[in-house]
Amino acid sequence: TLSLLYKLNRIDPSPLGPLDGATATHNDRISVLRNDITTLAVDAIVNAANRSLLGGGGVDGAIHRAAGPELVAECRNLGGCDTGSSKITEAYKLPCKKVIHTVGPIYNLLHRQRCEAALQGCYQSALQLAVQNGLKTIAFSAISTGVYGYPSPAAARIACSTVKDFLESKDGKKLDRIIFITFEEKDVSSYNRILPRFFPPS
Ligand code: ADP
Repeated sequence: TLSLLYKLNRIDPSPLGPLDGATATHNDRISVLRNDITTLAVDAIVNAANRSLLGGGGVDGAIHRAAGPELVAECRNLGGCDTGSSKITEAYKLPCKKVIHTVGPIYNLLHRQRCEAALQGCYQSALQLAVQNGLKTIAFSAISTGVYGYPSPAAARIACSTVKDFLESKDGKKLDRIIFITFEEKDVSSYNRILPRFFPPS
């Protein structure tokens, strides 16, 4: 399955090899991968950025470290980004073609609906930018599920429903493959549980 996935997506195998356990090609357009997003030679990786777009911890820090200092230099000219929106940059030393930076909500149970709408906005705006830039293979980090505290199953459900709606739209037909990638076993199991509700398995 893994070599097929690499072939289908032109994903370069990580120098560390895949992390244990959880790699799944769910169907011909959806995959779940437990690995380091900075190793993927896809068209675009989606960074869980913060509103400054100037780098941070977690996946954001890993992407900036791997891309090199030119990335933050380009980001400085973007004037930040609103929560629930996305901006696109070059990828510099990363093996992917572009980086889409999206700003997830900081989870707050008292504002659950607002958080849901913002997270939906992240996936939607990132996919829209991908289509506008002719990008076809997109790897999403598990936006907001780290320090921003979004519960993993709820975040996976929003990711899947938003991606499904987009793939079924006119623009969505222009996309080849969506990869949900994470470091965390809890996210992988959330995706694996929720994916069949939205996408038929192949
Ligand atoms: P947020 O601030 O939006 O919550 P984080 O970076 O804290 O973002 O976490 C988002 C997710 O990215 C978490 O599941 C975290 O484990 C995962 N993550 C961290 N580094 C990487 C990486 N290099 N590749 C893929 N996923 C990563």
